[in-house]
Amino acid sequence: MAKTLAEELRENRDLPDEGLRTLLEGDDPSPGREAREVTRAVFGGRVWLRALIEWSNVCRNDCLYCGIRRSNGRIRRYSLSREEILSCCAQAWSLGLRTFVLQGGENPAAARQLTDTVAAIRAAWPSAAITLSLGELPRETLRLLREAGADRYLLRHETATASHYASLHPAGMQLQTRLDCLHSLRELGFQTGMGMMVGSPGQTTEHLIADIRLMQAFRPEMIGVGPFIPQKDTPFAGETAGSAEKTLRLYSILRLMFPSANIPSTTALSTLLPGGRIAGLRAGANVIMPDFTPAPYREAYTLYDGKNAACVETGAQLQALQQELSAAGYTVSSTRGDYQHHV
Ligand code: SAM
Repeated sequence: MAKTLAEELRENRDLPDEGLRTLLEGDDPSPGREAREVTRAVFGGRVWLRALIEWSNVCRNDCLYCGIRRSNGRIRRYSLSREEILSCCAQAWSLGLRTFVLQGGENPAAARQLTDTVAAIRAAWPSAAITLSLGELPRETLRLLREAGADRYLLRHETATASHYASLHPAGMQLQTRLDCLHSLRELGFQTGMGMMVGSPGQTTEHLIADIRLMQAFRPEMIGVGPFIPQKDTPFAGETAGSAEKTLRLYSILRLMFPSANIPSTTALSTLLPGGRIAGLRAGANVIMPDFTPAPYREAYTLYDGKNAACVETGAQLQALQQELSAAGYTVSSTRGDYQHHV
């Protein structure tokens, strides 16, 4: 019997462009089924929680899609102090989370100063994983952050097509700079994450196929993919949001291509889709990133409208999340969840 495209993708971890196009544009449920099996086989029903700490919304960039872009004068800018960051980490650690993710606007001077904070986190929790997501930084700063103890770095490439990249970003930001930065991260020994929004303005199936090909060439340890959601104070305020369904489809395709990659079920997905967190796991994701940003700051980290973050500030909230996961057949892992290659 002829193999389905999803079976072929699972077996070869690859498909010709035409097959990818059919899967991306169609509504065939088989990639979801195959990806669910692969996810079970690789991760055994375990899910990893990463504590997201949105440490600053100060950003030098002006990405057209992003609510914390430099030109947005309508948000209150903040940066957490070292003490505040350490207290978020302490809270997350006490609840059993073993990865801290410091994310923020692109701000090279502040990122350099963050080196001491990273060293303090490393000293206080030697066995925790430290992930950074601070945008494009000079290689020297990345080196200092790595030496201070950071293990992983998320830098979505956003789109692999230079002309599309130029339509999402102001003049002066270039795809090549981002790719160079991704290569520096890899060379410095970071577990490296890349990815893109689904349904960003102007995105076509060909763009998504180019994204997949770029990831095949780079082989990231982490893949961050979520739907584009408009934010009211950006030039893309009037654009249409990306499709949750297509996001789930991409999780499945990516899981079949990259069985071992750490793929979060993103906040943007659960913002668009009720029950999206579990739907993302069922489609192939294996990570959830609960928000540990202190409440007064959380709403100022407004990348897009209507953000629906998982918050587990208290043991009771964590228990509720664990119950939701266990009702869906998942258990929360107590390990760091580093990338491990599965053959
Ligand atoms: N400044 C760092 C960077 O550029 O990687 C980290 C923060 S940045 C805000 C994190 C991610 O948010 C971006 O990579 C982008 O894909 C996503 N994002 C920004 N605006 C968004 C929007 N309107 N809808 C969905 N995702 C968005």
